[in-house]
Amino acid sequence: MSTYTVVNPATEESIAEVELADLAATDRAIARAAEAYETWRHVAPADRARLLRRFAAAVDSAIDELAALEVANAGHTISNATWEAGNVRDVIEYYAAVPERLFGRQIPVAGGVDITFHEPLGVVGVIVPWNFPMPIAAWGFAPALAAGNTVVLKPAEITPLTAIRIGELAREAGIPEGVLTIIPGKGSVVGERFVTHPAVRKVVFTGSTEVGKRIMAGCADQVKNLTLELGGKNANIVFDDADVAAAAAAAPGGVFDNSGQDCCSRSRLLVQRGIYDEFMAALEEAVGDFAAADPTLPETAMGPLVTAAHRDSVAGYVAAGDVAFTGTAPTGPGFWFPPTVLTPPTTSSVDFTEEIFGPVLSVVPFDTEAEALRIANDTEYGLSGSIWTSSLDRAMRVSRGVEAGNLSVNSHASVRYSTPFGGFKQSGLGRELGPDAVASFTEVKNVFFATQPAD
Ligand code: NAP
Ligand code: MG
Repeated sequence: MSTYTVVNPATEESIAEVELADLAATDRAIARAAEAYETWRHVAPADRARLLRRFAAAVDSAIDELAALEVANAGHTISNATWEAGNVRDVIEYYAAVPERLFGRQIPVAGGVDITFHEPLGVVGVIVPWNFPMPIAAWGFAPALAAGNTVVLKPAEITPLTAIRIGELAREAGIPEGVLTIIPGKGSVVGERFVTHPAVRKVVFTGSTEVGKRIMAGCADQVKNLTLELGGKNANIVFDDADVAAAAAAAPGGVFDNSGQDCCSRSRLLVQRGIYDEFMAALEEAVGDFAAADPTLPETAMGPLVTAAHRDSVAGYVAAGDVAFTGTAPTGPGFWFPPTVLTPPTTSSVDFTEEIFGPVLSVVPFDTEAEALRIANDTEYGLSGSIWTSSLDRAMRVSRGVEAGNLSVNSHASVRYSTPFGGFKQSGLGRELGPDAVASFTEVKNVFFATQPAD
């Protein structure tokens, strides 16, 4: 087995050695998950619910430990990482209600009784990216486990530490061995095996659109069930009837949170021409307040980027762009990059079209509502977006017009565990979170029981 040395992106210190699973270890873990499924699927609904609640309680008592681990592994700010660990608890707790409420239907038909059942799929393979290691893991495993599936989960190679700990917490809470197995390893080994192994009945993939397409093609071979959460290049549209001060104050958080390493990052800012100068002046001030700094401090707005290679990729976009102004960041050690605002000459500039996945915001002016919609939709992505306006009419019209799965009006909030999350177009396939996600972890079985007429 090979190992990976985990590096703290804020200090560049090595903090852990993690064993990477090879193909044989992956196959063994999948076989154990398939065996565990035969028991887990038959655990009484109330007992499965109770085990999930205990798991949520175990996560709750480890919030500080998990948060500190994520700060060290991924460079997240301590305040974000604490929210993320709390989100894992909340998502498990939310889906703990499912085992006792997985209702089928009785459908009126002639000649008998017709009933639908929602049956688990079997082993579900969850593949997680490095940008939100904790929440994205839970969004996959919690509804899957609640519906009676077992889960094998591959964290990103570079950010495995919190997932490993969450797997231990599941066992400590009494979740049986093999029900939730964390398999650190490479995408090309462990991730691809989830796609090709016939015992894995569904793949949940969150990551880049490029890898998502390969996984979708691979799943075709076995007509394998698939959920995809992919990239985004999300629009923040500010109309001239908006509260300009509030919109400008919120814009940095909407794009630079998690150092812009967020699929929902509002990295395209569209400002109506009449308020453009006033808005940009307020934005420059707000960006000045959104400094990159030591992520262990509670007041820090954003931390470093995840690796040196990723920092260099972000820097390449900025070097090729038109910089309007930047915020501040520490110098090394650490993979630092300051929040940066670009004003591209056209909406076809590379920084305006490609997902940079760093603290980079590209701003363009627009004149009419129709033009704003055209620009917002002129992308292969469709994950999220924001609309700032004081007109209810306009908020209704524009939110129905933007081709994206998660929109917010006068806010940048995208994620609530109780509401559906996912993308239009090349941002994904299917929805996570909320009540409907459960359906994607079950097969509907319809059974017709013939009855003879009474004599
Ligand atoms: P990535 O390179 O696509 O990797 C994502 C995961 O897939 C990692 O665990 C990776 O393993 C694995 N992987 C890589 N190649 C694979 C293959 N051939 N078969 C199976 N698995 C494979 O994405 P990333 O760079 O980690 O994350 C950034 C991307 O994720 C961005 O595009 C972002 O927008 C997207 N994202 C989307 C959402 C959403 O909900 N829509 C949320 C967060 C992030 P390794 O670690 O070994 O590379
Ligand atoms: Mg990658």
